[in-house]
Amino acid sequence: MDFGNDEGSCNVEDRRGMGGIGLGAGGIGLGGLVILIIGYFLGVDPSQLLNMAQQAEVQQPQATAPARSGPVTDELGRFVAQVLGSTERVWGEEFRQRGSEYRQPHLVLYDGSTPSACGMGRAAMGPFYCPNDERVYLDLAFFRDLRTRFHAPGDFPDAYVIAHEVGHHVQKLMGTFDRVERARGRVSQAEMNQASVRLELQADCYAGVWANHAGMQAHITDQDIDNGLTAAAAIGDDRLQRQSQGYVVPESFTHGSSQQRVRWFKRGIESGRAEDCNTFSTRAL
Ligand SMILES: [Zn+2]
Repeated sequence: MDFGNDEGSCNVEDRRGMGGIGLGAGGIGLGGLVILIIGYFLGVDPSQLLNMAQQAEVQQPQATAPARSGPVTDELGRFVAQVLGSTERVWGEEFRQRGSEYRQPHLVLYDGSTPSACGMGRAAMGPFYCPNDERVYLDLAFFRDLRTRFHAPGDFPDAYVIAHEVGHHVQKLMGTFDRVERARGRVSQAEMNQASVRLELQADCYAGVWANHAGMQAHITDQDIDNGLTAAAAIGDDRLQRQSQGYVVPESFTHGSSQQRVRWFKRGIESGRAEDCNTFSTRAL
């Protein structure tokens, strides 16, 4: 993919090199490892984030940190800004057609850790979206892992990650997060996990909708799409669980299986219509 001379979005907050709290030389313990695996690639389990968001309301942490102003100029930062700008155009148009306005999310680039209105963001969590401050949090080291650990080649998987997180923002604007949150406490943990899977698969589908509309302008090729699908398959809960613990527990899934992730991402790519992403009204995911 290639955005040419596109300037990209001005909603990127660059907090890299701002002295966040690193994980330290001691490495991460077992608990950290579990978070690493659950949180990997498509952010933290959204129900966990909503929990964090509730706690944050009580604690009132500092929601913003100082950021460099002006456009990001390094290659990777610029690419991120271009992808974000592309999602703004696609969703802006989508919301306009529905007679409403798209409120653009911000995207925070950071390294190590940074405060968010959902608690402390840490690189080990993977990219995540915080509904409380409507920001996507992204540590670019993650993109390196995407290539080395998950063997997802090219830059399209990076764009897919951003578009997926923006998909969560779309869910916030459409009230989907709220509907899921209202069920908390009234349903079992297995059912909450199921709702989380549906949220994640819908965000995958929304990422596909973005790719469909961005295709021409961003010069997305068939090879890019293949790379994106490889990435989607690599981060299915079943594959991650098999890698980490040797067996698979479907009830504990929070993001969906490899096959499901590929299917919903593909559906969005092929249809380009957000209404075809209704993972909540289907029995067969
Ligand atoms: Zn997600």
